[in-house]
Amino acid sequence: MKQPVKLIAGNWKMNGLGASLAEVEALCAALQSQPAACRVALCPPSTLVERMARTTAGSPIEIGGQDCRAETHGAFTGDISAAMLKDAGAILVILGHSERRQGYGESDLLVSAKAEAAFAAGLAPIVCVGETLEQREAGRAVEIVRSQVMASLPLAIAGRAFAVAYEPVWAIGTGLTPTLEQIEEVHRAVRAAMIERLGLGIAATPILYGGSVKPDNAAEILAVPEVGGALVGGASLKAPDFLGIIRGA
Ligand code: PEP
Repeated sequence: MKQPVKLIAGNWKMNGLGASLAEVEALCAALQSQPAACRVALCPPSTLVERMARTTAGSPIEIGGQDCRAETHGAFTGDISAAMLKDAGAILVILGHSERRQGYGESDLLVSAKAEAAFAAGLAPIVCVGETLEQREAGRAVEIVRSQVMASLPLAIAGRAFAVAYEPVWAIGTGLTPTLEQIEEVHRAVRAAMIERLGLGIAATPILYGGSVKPDNAAEILAVPEVGGALVGGASLKAPDFLGIIRGA
């Protein structure tokens, strides 16, 4: 059976100034001389979305935001709407990243509302789920992730373009990764929960793995059954590292 094309998405978090676009130019040049076998996306901070979209115009790189507000507009100082991201050139948006769930108390319900707002604006969400170390050590990883999937994906998401990212909180930015067996176990549970909630139509929707993906572990992680790509933090900031991951897909 033909494997669906994987998605390798970079999350720059709160990193990057105008000068960082040199990394993006280098990435575009490398992908022009040797096209990627996967989809490639970059999610810069909001200040760089428009400039990055211009820099990557004509390349296959997709641009995304890192979060959006569920409301369309209004008195929400410092926030950004899905339509604003779209207007700046984004086609994707990361939602429910653990740094937002933990740092800003974002609930599954809020993530679900944000996903609906993303669709309304024409963005494809990448909805993040993942257990803490305490939850994993208590043997609750699958249960936690399953409940996040069930409550963070609005029913209206069925039939739309989106992705889910499984990111164990304890693996993000730590250099730690689950075993390949653990990744497979959770990805299978995520797929089962997605089908239970949304039906068989989402059987090909990518489930990304995220958490300390690097050039030297990308190929083996990306080969795990049900891993449909990667959400990459630190290693997406430098073109050679990100390319090393892209070449592993
Ligand atoms: C992330 O922030 O989504 C992430 C996976 O980070 P890192 O790759 O740095 O662990």
